[in-house]
Amino acid sequence: MFQKVLIANRGEIALRIQRACRELGIRTVAVHSTADSEAMHVRLADESVCIGPPAAKDSYLNIPAILSAASITGADAIHPGYGFLSENARFAEMVEAHGLTFIGPSPAHIRMMGDKIAAKAAMGGLGVPLVPGSDGEVPDLATARDVAGRIGYPVLIKAAAGGGGRGMKVAQSPSDLEDAFRLARTESAAAFGNDAVYMEKYLDRPRHIEFQVMADAHGAVVHFGERDCSLQRRHQKLLEEAGSPALTPAARDHMGATVTAALTKLGYRNAGTLEFLYQDGQFAFIEMNTRLQVEHPVTEMVCGIDLVREQIRIADGETLGYQQSDIRFAGHAIECRITAEDPDSFLPSPGRVAAFHAPGGLGVRVDSALYAGYVVPPYYDSMVAKLIVHAPTRAAAISRLRRALDEFAVLGIETTLALHRRIVDDPGFQRGDYTIHWLEQFVGDPTG
Ligand code: ADP
Repeated sequence: MFQKVLIANRGEIALRIQRACRELGIRTVAVHSTADSEAMHVRLADESVCIGPPAAKDSYLNIPAILSAASITGADAIHPGYGFLSENARFAEMVEAHGLTFIGPSPAHIRMMGDKIAAKAAMGGLGVPLVPGSDGEVPDLATARDVAGRIGYPVLIKAAAGGGGRGMKVAQSPSDLEDAFRLARTESAAAFGNDAVYMEKYLDRPRHIEFQVMADAHGAVVHFGERDCSLQRRHQKLLEEAGSPALTPAARDHMGATVTAALTKLGYRNAGTLEFLYQDGQFAFIEMNTRLQVEHPVTEMVCGIDLVREQIRIADGETLGYQQSDIRFAGHAIECRITAEDPDSFLPSPGRVAAFHAPGGLGVRVDSALYAGYVVPPYYDSMVAKLIVHAPTRAAAISRLRRALDEFAVLGIETTLALHRRIVDDPGFQRGDYTIHWLEQFVGDPTG
């Protein structure tokens, strides 16, 4: 087993990975920017190295600085967490070229899935159902018109290099197409340095349901069931559940078998998530994430498994050691992403945390790097805590969530705790019959 792992990340996910390492008897190296010297992930690590100034491009995305930190401290492996360099195939290659282990999939699979056009082509070829759309890249407006004519309006123009909901534009009718096409290209060029776009049928009332998979380096692949991530604002997830209120165990088994068969054929390794839209009883693949996801804890709670521990063991060459039939789904879990933002305007609210009290009790988990006196820096993602609850039934999980949200206190900065309290009290959420458009209507912020 590895002796020392460098965690190329910050915040709650850096702590999450440290916890798994500690339990495996592995020493941890934190890296941090000058803005993060007082951060909890630095305080709790065995060693830490400053890798640059606040801007992420100079620190958490600074590959030479991170590789030097690994070399100076004698780390054997690097865990990238999510965001930052986690889906950067070049980084994974460089980690390996330096004789270290990248805790994640092969660079080739990261590269393949990072190009959403290639990802759809690969998954379609492996028998995974796809959202109807263009056959690959849509290079010009004339092709866009042809595709829209074939699949029917409304259509969605999406960035091949997409992520975080950027570079995605809806055209409701032929008259919108030119603007949507142009905007999607401009936005993706600006966000990703790549203006390639493709097209999909814009589904009017889907749920976002994704499957967590784990594969060892010896050909064994299992899935840990689904997460329902339909509650989104501007295509960004805000609250996630496992399992989905919309899925029967039979539908889960069927789709789970489809995804594990596809990844077995692909020769995939380590953790991954296949994201689908689910409407009228049909699944349609949209993309695959080749990393640990923010919402992984809901899966951990219902399956009773430590996904980060599994990632580390697999990267070290161990076998899974269990089969699909050994995986049991118990109860229901819900996660709220709490961000340092005004709960009404969603404007960022960095600053000093005057007081912090995390809820506790049976079935309550808080993944956060906050503490009283900590100053939330303005430079990074605004998520500051994840509250996860687990209970035998969905109704009991909702009661527990309401109770835990009431106990949770973060003073000194604005947070979205108040919004989550409103959501759990809403009969529509409680019924569980929501789609990806539900939250936009709930917060009065139609996007699309
Ligand atoms: P990103 O990589 O930017 O997150 P995704 O392809 O994962 O983009 O899509 C993000 C979200 O956008 C989905 O969860 C869903 O809410 C919405 N979306 C994506 N494709 C479609 C589609 N064809 N129809 C309707 N909504 C979609």
